[in-house]
Amino acid sequence: MDYTVTFWGVRGTVPCPLRSHMEFGGNTACIEVRVAGHTVFLDAGTGLRLPGRRLVKEGVRSATLLLSHAHLDHISGFPFFAPAYTPGFDLRIIGGRADGGPGIETALTRQMERPLFPVPLRTMGGDLNFREVTAGDSFDLGEGVRVRTAPLNHPDGATAFRIDWADRSLAYVTDTEHVPGAPDRAVLDLIAGADLVVYDATYTDDEFARRVGWGHSTWSEGVRLCRRAGVGRLALFHHDPDHDDAAMAAIEAEARAVWPPVFAAREGTTLDLLAGGPPA
Ligand SMILES: [Zn+2]
Ligand SMILES: [Zn+2]
Repeated sequence: MDYTVTFWGVRGTVPCPLRSHMEFGGNTACIEVRVAGHTVFLDAGTGLRLPGRRLVKEGVRSATLLLSHAHLDHISGFPFFAPAYTPGFDLRIIGGRADGGPGIETALTRQMERPLFPVPLRTMGGDLNFREVTAGDSFDLGEGVRVRTAPLNHPDGATAFRIDWADRSLAYVTDTEHVPGAPDRAVLDLIAGADLVVYDATYTDDEFARRVGWGHSTWSEGVRLCRRAGVGRLALFHHDPDHDDAAMAAIEAEARAVWPPVFAAREGTTLDLLAGGPPA
């Protein structure tokens, strides 16, 4: 039994597969969590494609997708997720209900309709089971794995997730905009005492000031929230595609000078929550 967290896509907004961005990575939001024998993905951005192929090769027969919301950078990897095409593969897809809008099943279905994509979702061969949750709900994945959710401040709504198992916890908090000077109570409650928090750090403070209303946050707000909530480590996430490796390294250094347990998520790295220590 293990509890590992692998970053497969760390960008927000749009993929940026550029030489200048390769140290941190160019794929959009996707994290693989292996916990208590379960395979769980947080979001289905373009980072979802590679681990999907690997799951099929490994003969894994089930997985769960937890989807924060249906913006393209969080679902566009789904049509390329090999397990969903694999007969008999048991795929649970759990999404937060967006404010009054169409649900996650509708969004995933529509992005595979003509003329957007040649293969309709209903012809994928796997056993796809959709479930919508209201932000604030909790549920179990089995084997003692508990998931809690919280609402985020984002255009069309988004849902944060926390996965607890064996006294270890990971919280995934993206996409969200903070209100300066008013820490988000729902986020503080969700991340309280978590070992690892992945947080929407799209903007620097300067950029944020020019992009109020765009639905994203900053590394400095992430640090404030995590310090206040007694969090172990903070992974900056949803990197702006305009931030190349040099910009990301500068952001990470600046953040670490303020609070050492922070790092900028890099595509392809794995953290072992049972062992602790730096990402491999
Ligand atoms: Zn996003
Ligand atoms: Zn979004």
